[in-house]
Amino acid sequence: MNVKVVMAQKILRANEQVARENRERLTRLATVNLISSPGAGKTTLLEKTIITLRDEFRIGVVEGDIYTTRDAERIAGRGAAVVQINTGGLCHLDANMVGRALDQLDLDRLDLLFIENVGNLVCPAEFDLGEDYKTALLSVTEGGDKPTKYPLVFKESHTVVINKSDLLPYTDFDMNKVQAEIRTINPEIQIFVTSATTGEGVEAWCLWLREIVRRKREGHAAG
Ligand code: MG
Ligand code: ZN
Repeated sequence: MNVKVVMAQKILRANEQVARENRERLTRLATVNLISSPGAGKTTLLEKTIITLRDEFRIGVVEGDIYTTRDAERIAGRGAAVVQINTGGLCHLDANMVGRALDQLDLDRLDLLFIENVGNLVCPAEFDLGEDYKTALLSVTEGGDKPTKYPLVFKESHTVVINKSDLLPYTDFDMNKVQAEIRTINPEIQIFVTSATTGEGVEAWCLWLREIVRRKREGHAAG
């Protein structure tokens, strides 16, 4: 085993400990870690989701970006409590960063928390942040080869949202084939097809979110 591998394992083990501490602080609110490539529409989907659910639930967002507060400003404009994390160059969020963000939220007053990860399909899948669920977001404009190229994030996710469905006619994205490939990687995964821009499919996604809030309130563990 070379030194680099040992280092990576140490980092992941330390991360797991902090993720457990985060999870203990999040026993009363459902938490979703959103992972996608840059530009897949995470922030736009969150805006639509908040507009749909804000009269039912108190929603918080931890907004991860390498630089800038633009996404956090968009989210705050929709009425969610938001904390920005700037990773300053790092390509994923880790449990420590999320723990510091949680310090800035009134967790007792939230029902649902989203963690919008840094746009990247690779290492965010390896870092447990203490969330209940990972959701992978994939847009039809990025091409259908992402699940087979980056299987870990699809394997680790409970749900996948295939976004930008309104642009489907302008792409060669094969919806049936991609869904079949995702199910080969993860047979248990729930798939939603949305257009965060037009709102198509957002209601079905919000039904799942209502379900996980209800489950969390009843004290059931995620699974
Ligand atoms: Mg964003
Ligand atoms: Zn990374």
